[in-house]
Amino acid sequence: MRKQIAAANWKMNLTSLEASQLLNELLAIPHDLKSHQEVVFAVPSIYIPLAVSILAGKPNIYIAAQNCHQKNNGAYTGEISASMYASVGVKHIVLGHSERREYFGESDALLAEKLNAVLAIDSTPIFCCGEPLAIREAATQNEFVEAQLKNGLFHLSATEIVKVVIAYEPIWAIGTGKTASSEQAQEIHAYIRKSLALKYGVAIADEISILYGGSVKASNAKELFSQPDVDGGLVGGASLIATEFAAIINALK
Ligand code: PEP
Repeated sequence: MRKQIAAANWKMNLTSLEASQLLNELLAIPHDLKSHQEVVFAVPSIYIPLAVSILAGKPNIYIAAQNCHQKNNGAYTGEISASMYASVGVKHIVLGHSERREYFGESDALLAEKLNAVLAIDSTPIFCCGEPLAIREAATQNEFVEAQLKNGLFHLSATEIVKVVIAYEPIWAIGTGKTASSEQAQEIHAYIRKSLALKYGVAIADEISILYGGSVKASNAKELFSQPDVDGGLVGGASLIATEFAAIINALK
């Protein structure tokens, strides 16, 4: 069975004290992760050592970065590379979140470079894709997302693509309280998997986890995750509340 993943995206939120309180509160809530289930916390970079130490030795729980630079090292003031993250215990890196695409001008071509950097050191990219509202209203979301995959991801080899986690996040559902219905999520996740199968074959497409993101909450997680091609969620707002995120973890298949 492919991995089922609950990934928290804290974005630029919380103080150091709040971050440690949230992780400790979450750990105190019973969860029973099966071997095919993972929890990932994409925390602000500055809290990574803190999160690594609080979560040390917890099986199937990982810390992620929210972005990285495409180069390994060099004169790039203010930037952090994938290999630097790996050196402090981070193996997952979120790439191409719509906020980075929109506010920091990250293009598919740049994301392709970042993917290569992450895979080169054997870390796991969580590659985000998803359409804005106008595209959904024009009912061209499948073509839009497929272009993001082709331009950002499909240069990878078969052995590389199986290491990637995809997060489908319709921009109109991020932080808006609007969630794609489970039918809408399943439909486009199935389309993404079909595109992967056409390019890499069915067996490889079946191994790749595709997460849904966009106002996932305790109240809708079970229904979304029950869809056959929805392999968990990338969760923003609700991941900042321990009871909410714990319920989302417990909703994994
Ligand atoms: C996100 O940040 O990736 C996200 C999906 O946010 P939210 O859950 O708040 O919509």
